[in-house]
Amino acid sequence: MHTSRSHLRFTYRSYNLATLVMNIYNSFIDPEFSLDRKTKKQIHKLAWKQWFKNSTNMAIYATGLATSMGIFIFLPDIIDSFLGNHFWYHTVSAFIIYIALLAILFHFMRHFRFAPCVYAELRSRGFDVCPKCGYNLKDLTPEIQTCPECGRQREFLDS
Ligand SMILES: [Zn+2]
Repeated sequence: MHTSRSHLRFTYRSYNLATLVMNIYNSFIDPEFSLDRKTKKQIHKLAWKQWFKNSTNMAIYATGLATSMGIFIFLPDIIDSFLGNHFWYHTVSAFIIYIALLAILFHFMRHFRFAPCVYAELRSRGFDVCPKCGYNLKDLTPEIQTCPECGRQREFLDS
């Protein structure tokens, strides 16, 4: 009973790790395109290059990191003065909020700042994906002027 349980947990964990590693080069690339791992890696590399070229990205990151750090540093004192006492869990709650803010920042950057770089890279290779949400627009007729997924105006690839 005990062994099977721990085995199950181990399998679950290694599955997650494998998925995570695989997703590094798969993210934001439609599996339908059936690109090999090397190409996906290359697309991501060039997408990162684009990402770094845009200084707004670093500015958002710096602001986000500084803000969450500031919240982590000052929030325990704010809670203390608000409640009129000090408990260790005020610091712990501030830390949890800090981690949550970092996670939100990371996901925001991934989905709204990095993903469009991947889509742009895919488009430059002739894949007609939406520049905003990555939806595959390939089979849509030219009469459809906007992305059915996010409503963005279509930009037709000349090929
Ligand atoms: Zn879209």
